[in-house]
Amino acid sequence: MTEELLLVGNVEESAKKAAQWLINRKPIRKLIDWGISFSLWPPHLTTSCCGTEFGAFAAARFDGERFGLLPFSSARQSNLLVIEGTMTRKMARAARIVWEQMPEPKYVISMGACSLEGGIFWNSYNTVLPSEIGIPVDIYLPGCPTRPEAIARGLLMLQKKIRNHEISK
Ligand code: SF4
Repeated sequence: MTEELLLVGNVEESAKKAAQWLINRKPIRKLIDWGISFSLWPPHLTTSCCGTEFGAFAAARFDGERFGLLPFSSARQSNLLVIEGTMTRKMARAARIVWEQMPEPKYVISMGACSLEGGIFWNSYNTVLPSEIGIPVDIYLPGCPTRPEAIARGLLMLQKKIRNHEISK
C-alpha cells in the first residue's frame, strides 16, 4: 500500500513533512543510500595496535580513499566508527563519547580478535568489548592483526549492507 501524503495547517511543518515524504520514496532513498555508502568518514580514534593496519589501509598502497573512506578529525562530521583492536576501560570511555557525538546515520566496524572476543587479552580485568559499552557493531573483522585487504573486504560488505538498506538507522 502506498503511503498517502496529507498536507494541512502550518506551511513550515507541511514543507518538512513533504520533504520527509519525498526522501522516503524508493528511487530517492536508493540514491541517498548509494551516496552514504561512498561517503564513510571515520574519526581519528585508535584504540590499539590494529590501528597501524588501519593506517596502512588508508595510506597510498591500499588507498582506502578510493572506497570513499576519509578519516576525519571531528566526530561530529563522521559517520563510521572503527574499533581498532583492544579497548581498555580508559579507551572505551573515549570511544563511547566519540560514538555519542557522531550524527545519525552512523555505522561501526570492529576489527581484530581483541575486539571480537578479547583476543590475547581475553582474561584481562581491564579490557572491554564494544557490546559491553552499548556500541552496536555492523561488521566484525577477525584476525590478529586484521590485514588491510580484510579491512577493504569489510568496507565493501558494509557498503553493500547500506545500499541494500539492511541496516535500520
Ligand atoms: S587483534 Fe592483535 S593486532 Fe589487533 S589489537 Fe589485538 S593484539 Fe593488537
